[in-house]
Amino acid sequence: MSSDSPPPDSEAPGLYLHVPFCRSKCRYCAFYSEPVAGHDVPRLVSALRAEVGRYRSVQAVRTVYVGGGSPISLPVDQLASLIDTVASIWPNTEEFTVECNPGQTDVEMLSMLARCGVNRLSFGVQSFHTSELELLGRRHSVDDAVRSVRQAQYLGFANVGIDLIFAVPGSTLDSWQQCLESALSLSIQHISTYSLSFESGTPLYEAHRLGRIESIEENTDRAMYELAIDLLASAGFAQYEISNFAREGFECVHNMGCWENRPYIGIGPSAASYWLGERTANVADIDAYIRRIEAGLPATEQRQQSNRDDRICETAVLNMRTRRGVDLADFQRRTGADFRKIFERPLRRYEREGLIETGAGRVCLSRRALAVADSVLCDFSSL
Ligand code: SF4
Repeated sequence: MSSDSPPPDSEAPGLYLHVPFCRSKCRYCAFYSEPVAGHDVPRLVSALRAEVGRYRSVQAVRTVYVGGGSPISLPVDQLASLIDTVASIWPNTEEFTVECNPGQTDVEMLSMLARCGVNRLSFGVQSFHTSELELLGRRHSVDDAVRSVRQAQYLGFANVGIDLIFAVPGSTLDSWQQCLESALSLSIQHISTYSLSFESGTPLYEAHRLGRIESIEENTDRAMYELAIDLLASAGFAQYEISNFAREGFECVHNMGCWENRPYIGIGPSAASYWLGERTANVADIDAYIRRIEAGLPATEQRQQSNRDDRICETAVLNMRTRRGVDLADFQRRTGADFRKIFERPLRRYEREGLIETGAGRVCLSRRALAVADSVLCDFSSL
Protein backbone atom coordinates (compact mmCIF):
# COMPACT_ATOMS: atom_id res chain seq x y z
CA MET A 1 0.00 0.00 0.00
CA SER A 2 1.48 3.40 -0.90
CA SER A 3 1.48 5.88 1.96
CA ASP A 4 -1.46 7.77 0.47
CA SER A 5 -3.60 4.95 -0.83
CA PRO A 6 -6.93 4.29 0.90
CA PRO A 7 -7.09 1.47 3.45
CA PRO A 8 -8.20 -1.89 2.05
CA ASP A 9 -11.98 -2.32 2.26
CA SER A 10 -11.62 -6.07 2.47
CA GLU A 11 -13.49 -6.05 5.77
CA ALA A 12 -17.28 -6.27 5.75
CA PRO A 13 -18.79 -2.78 6.21
CA GLY A 14 -21.65 -1.73 8.42
CA LEU A 15 -24.84 -0.60 6.69
CA TYR A 16 -26.79 2.39 7.98
CA LEU A 17 -30.28 3.16 6.67
CA HIS A 18 -31.65 6.60 7.36
CA VAL A 19 -35.43 6.89 7.46
CA PRO A 20 -35.93 10.67 7.47
CA PHE A 21 -39.42 10.80 8.98
CA CYS A 22 -40.68 11.61 12.45
CA ARG A 23 -44.26 11.95 13.63
CA SER A 24 -43.35 15.31 15.16
CA LYS A 25 -40.17 17.23 15.87
CA CYS A 26 -38.64 17.04 19.35
CA ARG A 27 -37.68 20.47 20.70
CA TYR A 28 -33.96 19.69 21.05
CA CYS A 29 -33.41 17.81 17.79
CA ALA A 30 -31.25 19.16 15.00
CA PHE A 31 -31.11 15.94 12.92
CA TYR A 32 -32.52 16.01 9.42
CA SER A 33 -36.05 14.62 9.54
CA GLU A 34 -39.45 15.70 8.25
CA PRO A 35 -43.05 14.96 9.25
CA VAL A 36 -44.22 11.79 7.57
CA ALA A 37 -47.52 13.43 6.53
CA GLY A 38 -47.41 14.98 3.09
CA HIS A 39 -44.69 12.69 1.72
CA ASP A 40 -45.06 9.90 -0.80
CA VAL A 41 -43.83 7.16 1.57
CA PRO A 42 -43.97 4.20 -0.89
CA ARG A 43 -41.94 6.23 -3.38
CA LEU A 44 -39.25 7.01 -0.80
CA VAL A 45 -39.13 3.39 0.36
CA SER A 46 -38.71 2.26 -3.29
CA ALA A 47 -35.83 4.72 -3.63
CA LEU A 48 -34.22 3.42 -0.42
CA ARG A 49 -34.56 -0.15 -1.65
CA ALA A 50 -33.07 0.84 -5.00
CA GLU A 51 -30.10 2.50 -3.29
CA VAL A 52 -29.57 -0.61 -1.13
CA GLY A 53 -29.58 -2.67 -4.36
CA ARG A 54 -26.71 -0.59 -5.76
CA TYR A 55 -24.45 -2.25 -3.16
CA ARG A 56 -25.60 -5.76 -4.01
CA SER A 57 -22.07 -6.71 -5.13
CA VAL A 58 -20.71 -6.10 -1.62
CA GLN A 59 -20.24 -9.67 -0.44
CA ALA A 60 -21.11 -9.23 3.22
CA VAL A 61 -22.18 -6.52 5.60
CA ARG A 62 -21.35 -7.10 9.22
CA THR A 63 -24.07 -5.03 10.88
CA VAL A 64 -27.22 -3.16 9.89
CA TYR A 65 -28.54 -0.14 11.76
CA VAL A 66 -31.88 1.38 10.75
CA GLY A 67 -32.19 4.85 12.27
CA GLY A 68 -33.54 8.26 11.57
CA GLY A 69 -35.69 10.05 12.13
CA SER A 70 -37.91 7.34 13.31
CA PRO A 71 -37.97 4.17 11.18
CA ILE A 72 -41.15 2.97 12.87
CA SER A 73 -43.04 6.03 11.67
CA LEU A 74 -43.22 4.04 8.40
CA PRO A 75 -46.27 1.80 7.90
CA VAL A 76 -45.46 -1.81 8.91
CA ASP A 77 -45.59 -3.17 5.34
CA GLN A 78 -43.27 -0.43 4.04
CA LEU A 79 -40.69 -0.96 6.79
CA ALA A 80 -40.95 -4.74 6.27
CA SER A 81 -40.22 -4.40 2.55
CA LEU A 82 -37.17 -2.26 3.29
CA ILE A 83 -35.80 -4.64 5.90
CA ASP A 84 -36.56 -7.65 3.69
CA THR A 85 -34.57 -6.11 0.85
CA VAL A 86 -31.54 -5.79 3.09
CA ALA A 87 -31.95 -9.21 4.70
CA SER A 88 -32.39 -10.97 1.35
CA ILE A 89 -29.12 -9.53 0.00
CA TRP A 90 -27.14 -10.04 3.23
CA PRO A 91 -28.84 -12.80 5.22
CA ASN A 92 -26.10 -13.32 7.80
CA THR A 93 -25.50 -10.02 9.54
CA GLU A 94 -24.11 -10.25 13.03
CA GLU A 95 -26.30 -7.48 14.45
CA PHE A 96 -29.47 -5.88 13.01
CA THR A 97 -30.69 -2.86 14.98
CA VAL A 98 -33.82 -0.77 14.53
CA GLU A 99 -34.35 2.49 16.43
CA CYS A 100 -37.80 2.76 18.00
CA ASN A 101 -39.77 5.50 19.67
CA PRO A 102 -41.65 4.42 22.81
CA GLY A 103 -45.39 4.39 22.35
CA GLN A 104 -45.09 3.89 18.61
CA THR A 105 -44.38 0.16 18.64
CA ASP A 106 -47.12 -2.43 18.88
CA VAL A 107 -47.28 -6.22 18.67
CA GLU A 108 -47.69 -6.16 14.88
CA MET A 109 -44.64 -3.92 14.34
CA LEU A 110 -42.41 -5.77 16.83
CA SER A 111 -43.42 -9.21 15.51
CA MET A 112 -42.61 -8.10 11.98
CA LEU A 113 -39.17 -6.86 13.09
CA ALA A 114 -38.43 -10.16 14.82
CA ARG A 115 -39.66 -12.17 11.81
CA CYS A 116 -37.43 -10.15 9.45
CA GLY A 117 -34.30 -10.93 11.49
CA VAL A 118 -33.96 -7.75 13.56
CA ASN A 119 -32.12 -8.80 16.74
CA ARG A 120 -31.51 -5.51 18.53
CA LEU A 121 -33.84 -2.62 19.41
CA SER A 122 -32.85 0.82 20.60
CA PHE A 123 -35.59 2.89 22.24
CA GLY A 124 -35.39 6.69 22.47
CA VAL A 125 -36.69 6.84 26.05
CA GLN A 126 -34.70 9.98 27.02
CA SER A 127 -36.24 10.43 30.50
CA PHE A 128 -38.43 8.78 33.10
CA HIS A 129 -39.84 12.12 34.27
CA THR A 130 -43.00 13.49 32.69
CA SER A 131 -41.93 17.12 33.10
CA GLU A 132 -38.66 16.43 31.26
CA LEU A 133 -40.36 14.56 28.44
CA GLU A 134 -42.66 17.56 28.00
CA LEU A 135 -39.81 20.04 28.04
CA LEU A 136 -37.93 17.96 25.44
CA GLY A 137 -41.04 17.82 23.25
CA ARG A 138 -41.21 14.01 23.28
CA ARG A 139 -44.60 12.60 22.34
CA HIS A 140 -44.46 9.55 24.57
CA SER A 141 -45.18 9.17 28.28
CA VAL A 142 -43.18 7.35 30.96
CA ASP A 143 -45.75 4.54 30.87
CA ASP A 144 -45.35 4.27 27.09
CA ALA A 145 -41.60 3.78 27.54
CA VAL A 146 -41.99 1.04 30.13
CA ARG A 147 -44.75 -0.70 28.16
CA SER A 148 -42.84 -0.61 24.85
CA VAL A 149 -39.64 -2.05 26.32
CA ARG A 150 -41.51 -4.77 28.24
CA GLN A 151 -43.55 -5.69 25.16
CA ALA A 152 -40.37 -6.05 23.08
CA GLN A 153 -38.82 -8.27 25.75
CA TYR A 154 -42.00 -10.33 26.00
CA LEU A 155 -41.89 -10.89 22.24
CA GLY A 156 -38.39 -12.30 22.52
CA PHE A 157 -35.98 -9.41 21.93
CA ALA A 158 -32.99 -10.23 24.11
CA ASN A 159 -30.88 -7.22 23.17
CA VAL A 160 -32.69 -4.00 24.02
CA GLY A 161 -31.11 -0.61 24.66
CA ILE A 162 -32.39 2.81 25.58
CA ASP A 163 -31.13 6.39 25.20
CA LEU A 164 -31.27 8.81 28.13
CA ILE A 165 -30.61 12.55 28.27
CA PHE A 166 -29.20 14.18 31.39
CA ALA A 167 -28.77 17.82 32.44
CA VAL A 168 -32.29 18.65 31.29
CA PRO A 169 -33.28 22.08 32.70
CA GLY A 170 -34.91 21.63 36.10
CA SER A 171 -33.27 18.24 36.76
CA THR A 172 -31.18 17.52 39.85
CA LEU A 173 -28.67 14.84 40.80
CA ASP A 174 -31.50 13.08 42.66
CA SER A 175 -33.93 13.19 39.74
CA TRP A 176 -31.17 11.89 37.44
CA GLN A 177 -30.44 9.04 39.84
CA GLN A 178 -34.16 8.11 39.83
CA CYS A 179 -34.04 8.12 36.05
CA LEU A 180 -31.06 5.74 35.98
CA GLU A 181 -32.71 3.46 38.54
CA SER A 182 -35.90 3.33 36.46
CA ALA A 183 -33.78 2.36 33.46
CA LEU A 184 -32.05 -0.41 35.41
CA SER A 185 -35.39 -1.78 36.61
CA LEU A 186 -36.20 -2.65 32.98
CA SER A 187 -33.55 -5.43 32.69
CA ILE A 188 -32.17 -4.00 29.48
CA GLN A 189 -28.76 -4.71 27.99
CA HIS A 190 -27.55 -1.29 26.79
CA ILE A 191 -27.79 2.37 27.85
CA SER A 192 -26.56 5.41 25.93
CA THR A 193 -26.58 8.68 27.79
CA TYR A 194 -25.90 12.20 26.59
CA SER A 195 -25.87 15.61 28.20
CA LEU A 196 -28.54 17.85 26.66
CA SER A 197 -27.05 20.26 24.18
CA PHE A 198 -28.81 23.31 22.85
CA GLU A 199 -28.40 22.96 19.10
CA SER A 200 -28.71 26.10 17.02
CA GLY A 201 -32.01 26.34 15.16
CA THR A 202 -34.00 24.20 17.62
CA PRO A 203 -36.89 25.55 19.74
CA LEU A 204 -34.97 24.65 22.89
CA TYR A 205 -32.01 26.70 21.72
CA GLU A 206 -34.32 29.69 21.17
CA ALA A 207 -35.95 29.26 24.59
CA HIS A 208 -32.49 29.17 26.16
CA ARG A 209 -31.29 32.19 24.18
CA LEU A 210 -34.33 34.20 25.27
CA GLY A 211 -33.70 33.25 28.90
CA ARG A 212 -36.91 31.20 29.22
CA ILE A 213 -35.02 28.12 30.39
CA GLU A 214 -31.72 27.80 32.17
CA SER A 215 -29.07 25.24 31.41
CA ILE A 216 -27.73 23.06 34.18
CA GLU A 217 -24.55 24.30 35.82
CA GLU A 218 -21.37 22.73 34.42
CA ASN A 219 -20.38 21.16 37.74
CA THR A 220 -23.78 19.51 38.14
CA ASP A 221 -23.70 18.31 34.53
CA ARG A 222 -20.33 16.69 35.24
CA ALA A 223 -21.54 15.19 38.50
CA MET A 224 -24.51 13.65 36.65
CA TYR A 225 -22.15 12.04 34.17
CA GLU A 226 -19.93 10.69 36.95
CA LEU A 227 -23.01 9.36 38.73
CA ALA A 228 -24.07 7.49 35.59
CA ILE A 229 -20.63 5.88 35.27
CA ASP A 230 -20.60 4.73 38.92
CA LEU A 231 -24.23 3.67 39.20
CA LEU A 232 -24.26 1.78 35.89
CA ALA A 233 -20.94 0.08 36.72
CA SER A 234 -22.33 -1.14 40.04
CA ALA A 235 -25.30 -2.60 38.13
CA GLY A 236 -23.01 -4.54 35.75
CA PHE A 237 -22.92 -2.10 32.82
CA ALA A 238 -19.38 -1.54 31.57
CA GLN A 239 -18.68 1.81 29.99
CA TYR A 240 -17.21 0.96 26.60
CA GLU A 241 -17.40 4.42 25.03
CA ILE A 242 -17.70 7.96 26.40
CA SER A 243 -21.51 7.85 26.27
CA ASN A 244 -22.25 4.11 26.01
CA PHE A 245 -22.69 1.37 28.60
CA ALA A 246 -23.53 -2.29 28.12
CA ARG A 247 -23.81 -5.60 29.88
CA GLU A 248 -21.00 -7.96 28.86
CA GLY A 249 -21.38 -9.09 25.25
CA PHE A 250 -23.97 -6.42 24.41
CA GLU A 251 -21.82 -3.56 23.13
CA CYS A 252 -23.28 -2.14 19.93
CA VAL A 253 -21.17 -3.83 17.25
CA HIS A 254 -22.32 -1.36 14.60
CA ASN A 255 -21.21 1.71 16.53
CA MET A 256 -17.98 0.00 17.63
CA GLY A 257 -17.23 -0.40 13.91
CA CYS A 258 -17.55 3.38 13.49
CA TRP A 259 -15.28 4.09 16.48
CA GLU A 260 -12.75 1.62 15.11
CA ASN A 261 -12.92 3.68 11.89
CA ARG A 262 -14.08 0.71 9.84
CA PRO A 263 -16.00 1.26 6.59
CA TYR A 264 -19.75 1.81 6.55
CA ILE A 265 -22.30 2.47 3.85
CA GLY A 266 -25.07 5.01 4.45
CA ILE A 267 -28.39 4.74 2.63
CA GLY A 268 -31.07 7.43 2.43
CA PRO A 269 -31.38 11.22 2.48
CA SER A 270 -28.49 12.87 4.39
CA ALA A 271 -26.85 9.50 5.19
CA ALA A 272 -23.05 9.55 5.48
CA SER A 273 -20.71 6.82 4.21
CA TYR A 274 -17.07 5.92 4.68
CA TRP A 275 -16.44 3.56 1.87
CA LEU A 276 -13.51 2.79 -0.47
CA GLY A 277 -11.43 5.42 1.29
CA GLU A 278 -13.95 8.21 0.68
CA ARG A 279 -16.27 10.06 3.02
CA THR A 280 -19.51 10.97 1.30
CA ALA A 281 -22.89 12.35 2.32
CA ASN A 282 -26.16 11.92 0.49
CA VAL A 283 -28.31 14.90 -0.41
CA ALA A 284 -30.31 16.03 2.66
CA ASP A 285 -33.61 16.54 0.89
CA ILE A 286 -36.21 13.81 0.44
CA ASP A 287 -37.54 14.95 -2.96
CA ALA A 288 -34.08 15.61 -4.41
CA TYR A 289 -32.95 12.20 -3.10
CA ILE A 290 -35.87 10.40 -4.76
CA ARG A 291 -35.32 12.24 -8.06
CA ARG A 292 -31.62 11.30 -8.12
CA ILE A 293 -32.23 7.65 -7.35
CA GLU A 294 -35.08 7.37 -9.89
CA ALA A 295 -32.86 8.98 -12.54
CA GLY A 296 -30.11 6.44 -11.81
CA LEU A 297 -27.80 9.16 -10.45
CA PRO A 298 -25.63 8.97 -7.32
CA ALA A 299 -27.42 10.23 -4.21
CA THR A 300 -24.21 11.81 -2.92
CA GLU A 301 -23.90 15.54 -2.52
CA GLN A 302 -20.57 15.79 -0.73
CA ARG A 303 -17.48 13.76 -1.42
CA GLN A 304 -14.12 13.91 0.29
CA GLN A 305 -11.18 11.64 -0.43
CA SER A 306 -9.69 10.65 2.87
CA ASN A 307 -5.88 11.09 2.72
CA ARG A 308 -3.33 9.50 5.03
CA ASP A 309 -3.29 12.39 7.52
CA ASP A 310 -7.11 12.34 7.69
CA ARG A 311 -7.07 8.61 8.36
CA ILE A 312 -4.47 8.96 11.11
CA CYS A 313 -6.39 11.70 12.94
CA GLU A 314 -9.85 10.19 12.42
CA THR A 315 -8.66 6.81 13.63
CA ALA A 316 -6.96 8.35 16.67
CA VAL A 317 -9.95 10.46 17.73
CA LEU A 318 -12.53 7.73 17.12
CA ASN A 319 -10.48 4.97 18.82
CA MET A 320 -9.86 7.15 21.85
CA ARG A 321 -13.59 7.60 22.39
CA THR A 322 -13.70 3.94 23.39
CA ARG A 323 -12.54 2.72 26.80
CA ARG A 324 -10.25 0.23 25.06
CA GLY A 325 -8.57 3.19 23.38
CA VAL A 326 -5.97 2.87 20.63
CA ASP A 327 -4.51 -0.57 19.94
CA LEU A 328 -1.03 0.53 18.88
CA ALA A 329 -0.35 -2.44 16.58
CA ASP A 330 -3.77 -2.19 14.92
CA PHE A 331 -3.32 1.57 14.50
CA GLN A 332 0.00 0.98 12.73
CA ARG A 333 -1.58 -1.64 10.46
CA ARG A 334 -4.55 0.57 9.54
CA THR A 335 -2.81 3.90 9.07
CA GLY A 336 0.84 3.02 8.48
CA ALA A 337 1.74 5.40 11.34
CA ASP A 338 3.34 4.99 14.75
CA PHE A 339 0.74 6.48 17.13
CA ARG A 340 3.20 7.22 19.93
CA LYS A 341 5.60 8.98 17.58
CA ILE A 342 3.10 10.96 15.58
CA PHE A 343 1.22 12.27 18.62
CA GLU A 344 4.28 12.55 20.86
CA ARG A 345 3.54 16.09 22.10
CA PRO A 346 -0.11 15.75 23.19
CA LEU A 347 0.67 12.31 24.63
CA ARG A 348 3.49 13.66 26.76
CA ARG A 349 1.28 16.51 28.01
CA TYR A 350 -1.78 14.46 28.82
CA GLU A 351 0.15 11.58 30.37
CA ARG A 352 1.78 14.12 32.67
CA GLU A 353 -1.65 15.55 33.56
CA GLY A 354 -3.09 12.09 34.22
CA LEU A 355 -5.63 12.37 31.42
CA ILE A 356 -4.16 9.58 29.29
CA GLU A 357 -3.11 6.10 30.36
CA THR A 358 -0.86 3.66 28.54
CA GLY A 359 -0.14 -0.02 28.90
CA ALA A 360 -0.28 -3.43 27.19
CA GLY A 361 0.09 -1.99 23.69
CA ARG A 362 -2.75 0.48 24.21
CA VAL A 363 -3.35 4.15 24.88
CA CYS A 364 -6.65 5.38 26.29
CA LEU A 365 -8.32 8.26 28.10
CA SER A 366 -8.19 8.01 31.88
CA ARG A 367 -11.41 8.04 33.88
CA ARG A 368 -10.69 11.66 34.83
CA ALA A 369 -10.46 12.63 31.16
CA LEU A 370 -13.88 11.31 30.18
CA ALA A 371 -15.78 14.40 31.28
CA VAL A 372 -13.41 16.66 29.31
CA ALA A 373 -12.85 14.25 26.43
CA ASP A 374 -13.71 16.72 23.67
CA SER A 375 -10.98 19.16 24.63
CA VAL A 376 -8.38 16.36 24.97
CA LEU A 377 -9.33 14.72 21.66
CA CYS A 378 -9.10 18.08 19.92
CA ASP A 379 -5.31 17.78 20.17
CA PHE A 380 -5.41 14.53 18.18
CA SER A 381 -7.65 15.88 15.43
CA SER A 382 -4.90 17.41 13.27
CA LEU A 383 -1.19 16.85 12.60
S1 SF4 B 1 -37.77 11.26 17.22
FE1 SF4 B 1 -35.53 11.40 17.20
S2 SF4 B 1 -35.00 12.09 15.14
FE2 SF4 B 1 -37.21 12.47 15.43
S3 SF4 B 1 -37.33 14.59 16.11
FE3 SF4 B 1 -37.26 13.32 17.95
S4 SF4 B 1 -35.07 13.18 18.48
FE4 SF4 B 1 -35.21 13.93 16.38
